[in-house]
Amino acid sequence: MDFIDPHLHMVSRTTDDYETLARMGCVAISEPAFWAGFDRGSADGFRDYFEQLTAVEPKRAAQFGIQHHCWLCINAKEAENVSLSREVIAMIPEFLDRPGVLGIGEIGLNKNTKNEATVFLEHLDLAIEHDQLILIHTPHLEDKYQGTRMILDMLCDDSRINPDRVLVDHVEEHTIGEVLDRGFWAGMTLYPVTKCTPDRAADMIERFGGERLLANSAGDWGVSKPTAVPDLIYQMRRRGCDESLIRRVVHDNPSEFFAKSGKFAAPVR
Ligand SMILES: [Zn+2]
Repeated sequence: MDFIDPHLHMVSRTTDDYETLARMGCVAISEPAFWAGFDRGSADGFRDYFEQLTAVEPKRAAQFGIQHHCWLCINAKEAENVSLSREVIAMIPEFLDRPGVLGIGEIGLNKNTKNEATVFLEHLDLAIEHDQLILIHTPHLEDKYQGTRMILDMLCDDSRINPDRVLVDHVEEHTIGEVLDRGFWAGMTLYPVTKCTPDRAADMIERFGGERLLANSAGDWGVSKPTAVPDLIYQMRRRGCDESLIRRVVHDNPSEFFAKSGKFAAPVR
């Protein structure tokens, strides 16, 4: 089945991963800007990273017949440094007109601090000013529930934000309901251990239906599996789920959400 992985950090993966993804039916990827496994020392470090995301990775992906798109921001982990964050936010508009850029992300919270919230709100201003889609990172483990509530409150307090143009990622069983109820799109991240397994994702799809629900691998520099979306397809087939429901979650929903940027059309083949 053709699928789209809406959250995959290919800068940290090999060409072998691209090839495996292509063989398994991956037709498009979107790559949010995030931590690089180390803190960058200057705004120029981010300029180089944005160049990599917007110019280098699309070429690497194209060698394997995969479309590559991306999102730009300074991530919540490095947003603790507010002055650096402001320099990066001021530079982002230089890149927003590039063809593969879908919006601002993944912005959010990491340890739910005041500085992170300040930078989050400034990213919202940037997204609104430039009419960009938004992709949200929600915190991990013990910070997730509280952090997700804080993020949703900040989004809902801003009347300029249209929830239909926001994807909230890394949802789990205790956060998915509120994200969908408030009209946002929700992403489930399939990690081998933490976040969500393919089995738990299939449970959530059975419980909440397929509307506004996406699945991704978040494959990155840590322990992760870039082919986790095919694992979900396999798990759903074993359960006897409708092919149309599977396709909706792994292909049609990301395609519909990305198309709101005006810069995405799923490959037809
Ligand atoms: Zn990520």
